Amino acid sequence: MDVLLMYIEYNPALKAGLFFCLGACVGSFVTALHYRIPRKLNWSTDRSRCTSCHHTLGIRDLVPIASWLAMRGHCRYCGASISPRYPLIEVGFGLLFALISCL
Ligand SMILES: [Zn+2]
Repeated sequence: MDVLLMYIEYNPALKAGLFFCLGACVGSFVTALHYRIPRKLNWSTDRSRCTSCHHTLGIRDLVPIASWLAMRGHCRYCGASISPRYPLIEVGFGLLFALISCL
């Protein structure tokens, strides 16, 4: 474990990439909270759903940035357009975390 942490510490690009992924996940969680809290949905136990057809999203629909790109911004189940706001927020958090890792 110490060797792995040392390897990451001495490879700034790897460290920034890992922090980017962590930040993208945090950004995804923040957008979920932003959607659920005003609607009084349970943020910890409710599953993510399409805002158009309400189909429960699977794991392949929930990968930050990659899922939106893979489906070209459309729901896998109903084809409804998904706002680019979601991946942009995930990218923003990813970049912020990557930047912080460089400090
Ligand atoms: Zn849908």
